[in-house]
Amino acid sequence: MGKWGICHICGEETQLTYEHVPPRAAFNDKPIVLANIEKIFSADDIEVLDTPRGRVNQKGAGAYTLCSTCNNNTGAWYGNAFVDWTYQGLTLSDHVLQAPSLYHIFRIFPLRVIKQVLCMFFSANGDRFHEVHQDLVRLVLNRLDNGLHPRIRIYTFLNTSSRFRQTGISGLMTFDGGHKLFSEIASFPLGYVMTINSPPPDPRLVDISFFANCRFNDWKDIPLRLPILPVYTAFPGDYRPRDEIAPLLQRNEN
Ligand SMILES: [Zn+2]
Repeated sequence: MGKWGICHICGEETQLTYEHVPPRAAFNDKPIVLANIEKIFSADDIEVLDTPRGRVNQKGAGAYTLCSTCNNNTGAWYGNAFVDWTYQGLTLSDHVLQAPSLYHIFRIFPLRVIKQVLCMFFSANGDRFHEVHQDLVRLVLNRLDNGLHPRIRIYTFLNTSSRFRQTGISGLMTFDGGHKLFSEIASFPLGYVMTINSPPPDPRLVDISFFANCRFNDWKDIPLRLPILPVYTAFPGDYRPRDEIAPLLQRNEN
């Protein structure tokens, strides 16, 4: 089973395979509700904040985006390291609730983790994204390559909600009126933001671009202090807490 199209990484026109974003083993093996911005802001009651409504994707988050070669290779090279990092993120989210100011040590393969994150951004973006980011294509398709051009930055945060939000790169007007070029994958329990020649949409996001400086077999202790950022609306980069969102919905009721 598949779908004909252009592979988001290598650009070949072929039969595409379903790419889970994030990988299925990283808590993405259950149906998800794709929250829909109109639904959230035309909601007639505040319940929608805690019970997201929208289209249900039974396969878990993802789409037919990659050829089988890109899907299998990147999964084999980076998948396990990414799942491992994700599990550590889940454990961490409990500690962060207790002591938000503490650094937590991740024991990970940093290069593999960030290369899997890049693969996820290829899938989250359109099938022409690869045309303008050939250096990223080479980076993910050559197992041992490392290094990230400074125009690209990758950020992470903890998302402890069940809400999933994904947006491709575009010149986005952020909810606060700013204009920034970024893409977001707000998955559970870790979310990611990729910026292109732009500051991050929120100063609390933690820059993990330096993971790309490691080598493929580097296994490192990396201390990180990750914030838990709320994800309530469908606006990319919107991490306003529930008590700021709720009044907006109540205003809509009239
Ligand atoms: Zn491909």
